[in-house]
Amino acid sequence: MSSDPAVLLDVDGVFNLARFRSSRNRDRLIREGWFHRRPSDPFAGDRLLMNLPRARAAARALVETGAELIWGTTWGAAANDYFVPLLGLPKVLRVAPVNFELSRKAYTVIPWLEGRPWAWLETRRASWRRRTR
Ligand SMILES: [Mg+2]
Repeated sequence: MSSDPAVLLDVDGVFNLARFRSSRNRDRLIREGWFHRRPSDPFAGDRLLMNLPRARAAARALVETGAELIWGTTWGAAANDYFVPLLGLPKVLRVAPVNFELSRKAYTVIPWLEGRPWAWLETRRASWRRRTR
């Protein structure tokens, strides 16, 4: 694997704030112009609520770092379907193998990075302990 820096991107709580707003706040933000919709399968229970101008500006800034952007989200490959166009990313991103047991996301992602330098924009506190023999 590359030794170039990587930036892992979580989606929910980083770009998509649907789960982090009360319904009253959601209604207000939608009235203020935030992008919203309920995506179809496979995440029918999820909603999207995004401030697209701000999210796109953040995505542009991340692209300009020159680091490889990688999805580090339980959205998995669907992140490319939904968020590459919404964020205006220039290309689809690789998808890190995220453990769907959310408290253990880091257990699959960090070893997968094979020691390359990385940062992770993530809403969950990492719980990871290096396994030693
Ligand atoms: Mg999150």
